[in-house]
Amino acid sequence: MAPEVHVAIVGCGPVGAALAVALGRAGLRVTAIERETSIYHLPRAASFDGETLRMFQALDLGDEVAGVSGALRAVDSHPSVPRPTSHEGAHRG
Ligand SMILES: Cc1cc2nc3c(=O)[nH]c(=O)nc-3n(C[C@H](O)[C@H](O)[C@H](O)COP(=O)(O)OP(=O)(O)OC[C@H]3O[C@@H](n4cnc5c(N)ncnc54)[C@H](O)[C@@H]3O)c2cc1C
Repeated sequence: MAPEVHVAIVGCGPVGAALAVALGRAGLRVTAIERETSIYHLPRAASFDGETLRMFQALDLGDEVAGVSGALRAVDSHPSVPRPTSHEGAHRG
């Protein structure tokens, strides 16, 4: 008799959710258990890098994610991090 669940994932943040999708697409029966009852009220993905987008593409979610995303034009570092002078910035490309 086939097990009702092959994999139980505790925690359905980005890692748990992505793993659940990947394992489900591989044919495994997955249950993801999350202790929070609602979605966190602040954004936690103001930006993501190319590797993250490649992971979405590997899960066949690239077009869907691209459809609700915009290109990042600039990053403003934390105020405690010194900004480069225009001279330094010119050499950093
Ligand atoms: C304010 C903020 C802004 C951020 N902005 C960005 C950003 O712009 N770009 C970016 O790439 N990253 C950003 N991050 C980081 C990003 O959110 C984390 O890297 C990412 O959430 C980590 O994913 P995770 O699945 O490993 O862990 P988590 O997101 O922490 O998910 C773990 C989940 O497991 C659940 N859990 C834990 N223990 C249990 C348990 N015993 N039983 C059931 N459920 C449990 C938790 O409730 C949680 O939902 C930001 C984070 C914060 C806080």
